[in-house]
Amino acid sequence: MPAASHTKLLEPLNLGFTTLKNRVIMGSMHTGLEEEDPAKLAAFFARRAQGDVGLMITGGFATSETAVLWPGAGRMTSEQDAIRHRTVTDAVHAAGGKIAIQLLHAGRQAYNVNMVSASAKQSPIFPFTPRALTAEEIEQEIDGFASAASYAKMAGYDGVEVMGSEGYLLNQFLTERGNERTDEWGGTFEKRMRFPLEVVRRIRAKVGAEFIIVYRMSMLDLVPDGQSLEETLLLARELEKAGVTILNTGIGWHEAKIPTIATQVPRGAFTWATRKIKEVVSIPVAASNRLNMPGDADMIAMARPFLADPDWVLKTKEGRVDEINTCIGCNQACLDHTFGGKRCSCLVNPQACHETELVFVKTTAKKKVAVVGAGPAGMSFSLTAAQRGHAVTLFDEAKEIGGQFNIAKQVPGKEEFHETIRYFSTMLKKEGVNLQLGKRVSADDLKDFDEVVLATGIIPNVPSLPGVDHPKVMGYLDVLKHGKAVGQRVAIVGGGGIGVDTAEFLTHHENEHGVAQSPSTSIEDFCEFWGIDRDQKARGGIAGVKANPEKASRQITILQRKPKKIAGPGKTTGWIHRAALEAKGVRLLSGVEYIGVEDAGLRIRTPDGAEHLLEVDNVIVCAGQHPNRELEESVRALGKTVHIIGGAFKAAELDAKEAINQGARLAATV
Ligand code: FAD
Ligand code: NAP
Ligand code: SF4
Repeated sequence: MPAASHTKLLEPLNLGFTTLKNRVIMGSMHTGLEEEDPAKLAAFFARRAQGDVGLMITGGFATSETAVLWPGAGRMTSEQDAIRHRTVTDAVHAAGGKIAIQLLHAGRQAYNVNMVSASAKQSPIFPFTPRALTAEEIEQEIDGFASAASYAKMAGYDGVEVMGSEGYLLNQFLTERGNERTDEWGGTFEKRMRFPLEVVRRIRAKVGAEFIIVYRMSMLDLVPDGQSLEETLLLARELEKAGVTILNTGIGWHEAKIPTIATQVPRGAFTWATRKIKEVVSIPVAASNRLNMPGDADMIAMARPFLADPDWVLKTKEGRVDEINTCIGCNQACLDHTFGGKRCSCLVNPQACHETELVFVKTTAKKKVAVVGAGPAGMSFSLTAAQRGHAVTLFDEAKEIGGQFNIAKQVPGKEEFHETIRYFSTMLKKEGVNLQLGKRVSADDLKDFDEVVLATGIIPNVPSLPGVDHPKVMGYLDVLKHGKAVGQRVAIVGGGGIGVDTAEFLTHHENEHGVAQSPSTSIEDFCEFWGIDRDQKARGGIAGVKANPEKASRQITILQRKPKKIAGPGKTTGWIHRAALEAKGVRLLSGVEYIGVEDAGLRIRTPDGAEHLLEVDNVIVCAGQHPNRELEESVRALGKTVHIIGGAFKAAELDAKEAINQGARLAATV
């Protein structure tokens, strides 16, 4: 049985001409499958349809040649395109689901030399200046949307989503930021909103009354010269009149300098913005952004949580919320991949977007497998191997499962890591894995097993730095695991993910229970920290970054030898760490040479050749790791098949994404 607070979410939604089985929408994601064999995209969506999602929305497909995000991007501009998509819609309908295609015109937010926009104004985060559309071309682009919608209908889609947020073309028309026209498509807001309204009207005229039109509306632009609250409310009312069936939420343009979906954003951080729109229209409005677990909203759109767990709705319905594999908002295998030109997956679910390639089949030859180490690699292997039918014993010398995730989860902004440990804890128990905690394993303990998996993780590096044994030097584990007292002035040696996380940990206040306080756990603090104006008095909803250096309780310098910027490892999240640390007064020094640690502090040489003494109370070493293979030789001597995964296999550049992936892939083969 679902909890009472989730029942509204699970109620069917009658749209008059069709009914959605519940009010959970899977939001649009470009996964990279769009440009591959359609069978892969079909398998991806069919798997989520089996999980009972009410309505799914595809990644964005271009509505014209000038609409593309990049020259080879997927489009819906011909009958051929419609025929290709039949594979997807047929698979979804066969699985009992409903699916809409997102229609996207990128405008100036594209890697496309032929890009167009309302005005010839370049986006600060894209390399080319767009050409301003002529009035005649505007008519053609609107017709492009309408034709794309009719091809979508021909392809068997249940509807379309018009991409009207994140700073794409429709947003560019709507705001002074993107639209400086003085003709009938610009000037006043009434004229600026003509373009999106005309798009909706012409789509409705083309597809008829019985076809879903979702409009993804920018409820909050989070950029200077964005829409005002009054304009947003007016647009919502006009969109309803123009024929929109459901309004979906978009928050922030891509060029906004405020995080909107990363793990540092509190859950449900922007539902207040959606609520204001809901009050002025009578069509359904879906909330979105950093919603990852069931709550009391009455309609939601979530994207990444369905990469993490295709059965999210089913598990909620059946009262199995503790079995949900929760999206932790890391972006490491989804958005970071997309922006790196790679196919999406999911850190906590390597099967995502690999449904036809990473397949777990029940074994016909049950084995007794010992796994040493219950970190991400060991947990992932054990769960999949047990699900396949093997008898798995999982050992860890710690008293709890999770490995380094138990350290990471205390870092402000990484609270979601608790969820991954909760998920594995529930599932390992459910699948009958024999958990042996609090036991440091030696080869002797492993004699009775058919195969052994070493997932023993890493040992932190100690650099050969003069004075490294000085009492003021400590390792990151001393701080994050053993709770050693740290002084007010700190130098951090190493600007990788752990160096940055250690700085995050040390710059946050602690509450009376000694727990680090973070804007990622309070919507109020988050909005204050990032300068979001919840009253939306200023255009775009921004009040200016208000991050307050006085709030940082320590003076911290992070150092690295490489000349490149210190920002943490994430392609799409590095800038957030950098902005947050700089706002709190943390100094980031790249290209340094370490001379040594002495009583007064850390002596370094900067790239200009000058020597400096950083007067600090502590030097914290975050200089990477090497594999912990202490057991390898003695276990191999037993003559067993030994597998090594995770940090124990390769520590350099090994993160949880790779650890979980390696565990699952090995488990698919034993
Ligand atoms: P580990 O997690 O190290 O687990 C190894 C386990 O083996 C340990 O529990 C240990 O107790 C056990 N063990 C070792 N020897 C024995 C023995 N002889 N007997 C019994 N048990 C034994 N990665 C990301 O991808 N994203 C992040 O945001 C991120 N943030 C991080 C933040 C911090 C502060 C830290 C420290 C790490 C972070 N990581 C992150 C890295 C990530 O946690 C590691 O890559 C991952 O945990 C490696 O998994 P693993 O299973 O190989 O090893
Ligand atoms: P890392 O990212 O490899 O960084 C190691 C840092 O130590 C580098 O800045 C390196 O810079 C420095 N270093 C290396 N050898 C050194 C030496 N001999 N002396 C001085 N400095 C040295 O490793 P990590 O920070 O320990 O993180 C471990 C893994 O966890 C990584 O894969 C990381 O991606 C992952 N992780 C991810 C996140 C995340 O948010 N996504 C967070 C934490 C950890 P120089 O060599 O230039 O000095
Ligand atoms: Fe969520 Fe991270 Fe998976 Fe992306 S990779 S879906 S952010 S858990």
